[in-house]
Formats: sequence, structure tokens, C-alpha cells
Amino acid sequence: MKEENCIFCKIASGEIPSKTIYEDNEFRVILDISPASKGHALIIPREHYADIYELPEDMAGHVMVLAKKLAAHMTEALNCDGFNIVQNNGEVAGQTVFHFHMHLIPRYREDGNQDKLCWNHLELSQEELEDICRKLRK
Ligand code: AMP
Ligand code: ZN
Repeated sequence: MKEENCIFCKIASGEIPSKTIYEDNEFRVILDISPASKGHALIIPREHYADIYELPEDMAGHVMVLAKKLAAHMTEALNCDGFNIVQNNGEVAGQTVFHFHMHLIPRYREDGNQDKLCWNHLELSQEELEDICRKLRK
């Protein structure tokens, strides 16, 4: 399924041109237009899934296998020093394009970014941790 006004549907289908570094039947991988580092790329499924909640399980498997292959290839080709794989879901989590995508971010010792992608660290009590654990355990 495609979504009519979705920019990533149009990029994935080729209707809007992009700097494509890889494509197959299921995915197009493009350079991010506003990159965090040299080589920052996005794995975009050709089908429209808004986020990880909509992504079918088999696609989730395929996207991770592709991310692994591309991480190795990009590290070799770009000679980067490390690699972040990031995937945002929902506005509150920083998602701005609501067509599932996975960020591949090569990292360089001197790329001007913080070492770690940033968040504040909470201090939770043992009770709070146990409560969360109880809610989440399957
Ligand atoms: P997210 O914030 O996780 O939804 O990521 C969306 C990403 O898409 C951002 O890093 C944008 O820079 C990138 N982006 C938005 N529009 C385009 C475009 N037309 N071509 C390439 N990358 C884009
Ligand atoms: Zn779409």
C-alpha cells in the first residue's frame, strides 16, 4: 500500500529523486537530506507502514538483516569509527516522517556530535524498577 501524500512513498517508488545507495524489491536506501554525519542513510520500505507498530514481523526481520549488511559495507567504504542505528516512533520520540524508516549513522571520532545519542538519565527507586519490571515481564 502507498499513502497518497507520503514523501517517503514517493521517494521509495522513485517518483521523487533521491541519492539512492541501495535498492531491492522491498527497500530503497537513501542518503538523509539533513545528515547527522557523512553517509547518514535511511532504510525505507517500499510499502507504507507508519511506524514499527504497523511494520509486519517479516519486514522487521528483513530490515535488520539489511541494516547489518549495510553497516558492514558502509564502515568499510567510509572508514568510519563506529555506527549508530536509530529508529524513531511517534512525535514524542522524534519521528518527523510517518513512514517507517531506519537511520544508519556512521560515526567518526571527530564528527562534532556527542559520543552517545543523548537522553537524560532518570534515577528510579528499586520499587519503581520492580513495578516496571512486573508490568513488562512476559
Ligand atoms: P525521523 O525524524 O526519524 O522521522 O527522520 C526523518 C529523516 O528524514 C530526517 O533525518 C530528515 O532529515 C530526513 N528527510 C526528510 N525528508 C527527506 C528527503 N526528502 N530526502 C532525504 N531525507 C529526508
Ligand atoms: Zn509512505
